[in-house]
Amino acid sequence: MEKSNIGLIGLGVMGQNLALNLADKGWMVSVWNRQGPGEAESVADRFVRERGKGKSVIACKGLDDFCDTLQRPRVVMLMVTANAVDEVIENVIPYLDEGDIIVDGGNSNFEDTGRRVKELYERGFYFVGAGVSGGEEGALHGASIMPGGAEEAWPVVKPILQSIAAKAEDGTPCCEWIGKGGAGHYVKMAHNGIEYAEMQLIAEVYSLMKRIGNMNNEEMGLLFTHWNETDLRSFLIEITGKILRHRDVTGAYVVDKILDVANQKGTGRWSVQNALDLNEPIGLIAEAVFARDVSGKKQLREKLGRIYSQESNLTLYQRDELVRPLYETLSVSRIVSYAQGFSLLKKASEVYRWNLNLASVALIWRNGCILRSELLNPIAEAFLVNPQLENLLADPFFSKRVKTSLPSWKKVVTMAVKEEVPLPAVSSALHYFYSVTTAHLPANLIQAQRDFFGAHTFERVDEPRGAFFHELWRS
Ligand code: NDP
Repeated sequence: MEKSNIGLIGLGVMGQNLALNLADKGWMVSVWNRQGPGEAESVADRFVRERGKGKSVIACKGLDDFCDTLQRPRVVMLMVTANAVDEVIENVIPYLDEGDIIVDGGNSNFEDTGRRVKELYERGFYFVGAGVSGGEEGALHGASIMPGGAEEAWPVVKPILQSIAAKAEDGTPCCEWIGKGGAGHYVKMAHNGIEYAEMQLIAEVYSLMKRIGNMNNEEMGLLFTHWNETDLRSFLIEITGKILRHRDVTGAYVVDKILDVANQKGTGRWSVQNALDLNEPIGLIAEAVFARDVSGKKQLREKLGRIYSQESNLTLYQRDELVRPLYETLSVSRIVSYAQGFSLLKKASEVYRWNLNLASVALIWRNGCILRSELLNPIAEAFLVNPQLENLLADPFFSKRVKTSLPSWKKVVTMAVKEEVPLPAVSSALHYFYSVTTAHLPANLIQAQRDFFGAHTFERVDEPRGAFFHELWRS
């Protein structure tokens, strides 16, 4: 019997669609899913009978016959929830041979992936942590895939993963080797951090349009759709245009029926937690995560809203007065979110010795993933021209763009402060910009305070860097 090229464990939302994508690309796929008690038909059998009908997909009853159906070296891809990965690995390993490959396509934490790569290598297996972005649609039609881990596995999994990846406009697959250890899952985590920031920025601009521009859903939807024809062109802008104009069967706008509490699964939070460990300032991304946390405090917001509610004397702005500044503000704030995200990647690459190719990262985000947008092209170009680029804000293309938008950016933040509209991400982006572009921060005073109460010492402006001094403040 013909052996399968790849085996897939976990037929949830992502697993099913990836299996179909693999089969459509000509691979023979074996599938297995754990079985619940008392189920007459196995999940795998049902999948092959229904969505997998007529495709090169084989349903397997147990992990033993699943592994038997795979050609050597075996490639076993896991599409299970992150907390199940260790358990599934231990269950499948008895049926694998030395040199076989396990690919974890779920949203695992990069530290877990790094540990698994090392532990499994010592046991004779190659482990790949592949970040997959693009949701259900991407899994079926082409995702952005970020594989990293045991490099020995790459020649084997490369043709498989690149075949199911989205293709950029120039035909390049949005899947390239990222680096060793947990690098693939780290890049996916940073992708999600930027995704949180972009979503929050769009939401803040929407909030201003609605509250001080008095724009209705149709107007806002059309404006986002129009912006999708400009250099703001991106998946998130495109879907925002559609969401705002979407009505239910009664004719009501669905967006107005949705409770203003944003949930999260954790990858945005992980980005911020890791940034704190690496001393990397990603305040805009952090504000986007915190904004979801604040949204979750619905009862408190309602209670405090009653205590602090004032006579509403909101200024309403003319559409023409607002639209251009908001467009500029969104453009420039997005640049800052990428500046922070790539700065985090650069720092992680140095600390964990991954030697990340940042241009390649931007290139594989150009299609298939939630971040897909026009902006990734100039970002890739910036890192191609200067792989050592410390911060995107130092690139000539981006500095010109930021300088053009700065007056609008300041105007929008000022308006929001005056009209009491919360704008945490946009404001944080502006203050990050002010901070990283000034040679003079008040950190001298903080150093003095630290030295005063804790003798922590300080460097002096009139002495070489690296020499530390202590002042007898109380004498
Ligand atoms: P689902 O919840 O739809 O599916 C999860 C799968 O994991 C199911 O097949 C489930 O089996 C299996 N599973 C859970 N626990 C165990 C266990 N202990 N042993 C064996 N199998 C187990 O999740 P998704 O398909 O959406 O996501 C899978 C992974 O991909 C996750 O890590 C997710 O974060 C990530 N991801 C998801 C994206 C999305 O848009 N949905 C996008 C990118 C990544 P059973 O059916 O029996 O419960």
